[in-house]
Amino acid sequence: MRDVVIIGGGLSGLSAARELQRLNIPYRLIEVKKRLGGSIVSESTDGFVLDGGAFSFHRDDDWSFLPELGLQNALVPVVDSHQRDLVAFSGGTEMLVNALAKDLNGTFIHRMAISSLGTLDGKFTLCLENGLMWDAAALIVAAPARHAERMFRTLAPELSFRLFNYGYDTITRVSVGYKKDDMPVPPIFPWDVAIPFYSWTDSPQRVPPGHVLLNLGVRMLPKAVKAEAIISEIHRQIKAQGKPVISRVDYWEDADPLPPHLPDFTEKTAALEGLLPPGVALAGSDYHGLSLAARVAAGQRAAQSIGAYLKS
Ligand SMILES: Cc1cc2nc3c(=O)[nH]c(=O)nc-3n(C[C@H](O)[C@H](O)[C@H](O)COP(=O)(O)OP(=O)(O)OC[C@H]3O[C@@H](n4cnc5c(N)ncnc54)[C@H](O)[C@@H]3O)c2cc1C
Repeated sequence: MRDVVIIGGGLSGLSAARELQRLNIPYRLIEVKKRLGGSIVSESTDGFVLDGGAFSFHRDDDWSFLPELGLQNALVPVVDSHQRDLVAFSGGTEMLVNALAKDLNGTFIHRMAISSLGTLDGKFTLCLENGLMWDAAALIVAAPARHAERMFRTLAPELSFRLFNYGYDTITRVSVGYKKDDMPVPPIFPWDVAIPFYSWTDSPQRVPPGHVLLNLGVRMLPKAVKAEAIISEIHRQIKAQGKPVISRVDYWEDADPLPPHLPDFTEKTAALEGLLPPGVALAGSDYHGLSLAARVAAGQRAAQSIGAYLKS
């Protein structure tokens, strides 16, 4: 059997790969970056676990898939500036990426992007950025709309047109660790458009004893304001005593997809799926709601729909 190609190695693509494997369908996954995980990146340093991207999640999301991945005890509490009931992953969000990727035995190709999709003689064709051409039995596009728009220009022009100018908000995610005695707990920032949300944890799995970790969404661009200046502004606003013991600043140009916040999003997504040719599925942060659990479920659904297509 010709295999299925998954484009994108973030949470959605990995979840699709896992489901294809469960269904015994051969696949190749192509990811333009060196690493898997997309907008999820975690780092363990000096007893702190820092997340440079997605950090905190609603406790009441559907986490029923975690035990199957061995992550039944992975969520730890987080205190949120907006009093939401949030959790984080004890080993950083990347532990979810690693658990999804762990037993995958398909072919993985890194550092190569798909630039366009088409059909030829009844099969799908993929044009790689290096000019090579692949074919595939079916496709799962698990890349954000801003990239998918280009890929779909020939294969599904109307879909591509609707993805054009899909809006995103930029965000800088900042992690700062303090000794507990050096920082007011709970931290209180004056309301400020520059720091629209923050959360913190002193969970022993995420910080060394006697410490606390803050994770903030900051609307100051490191392109314009240096990372050190962002940290010192946070430090000033929080009225902390001693210096931070650790910090990390990540700037994301296209972080937060805007359409999922609009009331007609579900309707519009359903309409997008109606524009896909048979044998092509979409799974990604821009198409199926904002929670991580929704990402995993959408990846599974995409793989199941491709499984049904191949059977038919
Ligand atoms: C800064 C930031 C903070 C966030 N914080 C939170 C949070 O606190 N809580 C929460 O619930 N969610 C959060 N999110 C959202 C969450 O991270 C995403 O919903 C989820 O990780 C998206 O997964 P995905 O696989 O759909 O997309 P992505 O993670 O974007 O993965 C898509 C992958 O496709 C690859 N790709 C793109 N184009 C091509 C191409 N042409 N060829 C090959 N590969 C390609 C990309 O390199 C990428 O790896 C945050 C996101 C960001 C960016």
